[in-house]
Amino acid sequence: MSLPEFLINGYKDWKENIYPKKKELLDILFKEGQKPKAMIITCCDSRVNITKIFNGEIGDFFVYRNIANLIPSFNLKDLNDGVHPAIEYGIENLKIKDLIILGHSNCGGIKHAYQLLSGQIKNNNKKIDRWVENIKPSFIKLEKNQNNEKNIKSLEKLSIINSISNLLTSVEINKLVTDRKLKIHGIWFDLKTGNLEYYNQSQNKFKNLT
Ligand SMILES: [Zn+2]
Repeated sequence: MSLPEFLINGYKDWKENIYPKKKELLDILFKEGQKPKAMIITCCDSRVNITKIFNGEIGDFFVYRNIANLIPSFNLKDLNDGVHPAIEYGIENLKIKDLIILGHSNCGGIKHAYQLLSGQIKNNNKKIDRWVENIKPSFIKLEKNQNNEKNIKSLEKLSIINSISNLLTSVEINKLVTDRKLKIHGIWFDLKTGNLEYYNQSQNKFKNLT
């Protein structure tokens, strides 16, 4: 077994041309440990390049990815997803002050949930079928119309709001938010326009960030 050529070539290029420029920063991060500026929970989707969207640098973000950037409730008995320990580590060990849930347009995971929950496709009890069950509370709240595309877009946003609510099912997180030691942010990324929409919690609306 060997690595595909594009990975080997990409690595060689990075080691030769990028690494020397980053060596100093990596040295500091090695000696002092990571001190990420924020935690971002986003989708596995390859089109969502977190570090580039925020013009970030190595060490800036503590990132967790799963299908459709979902945070299940902390009250579930069976916490099988790694998102909960990642959040716990981020908050307790890395002292994260800003936790961002970043969803996106054309999300395959949300589309799958929509089609499944609206009966357009069959539930085959695959792992992804079970995983997107977490979207059900958002799907129930969705004001559905005839336009599937619009419904899916609304579901992408509702699901971010639901994950924020689920975060607050953790007693520890709830207290940190109340004490203003932790801020939770919801963002929706439009792949086509490159726009970020920020969730305004008091108005319960997503609005263009700039
Ligand atoms: Zn996605």
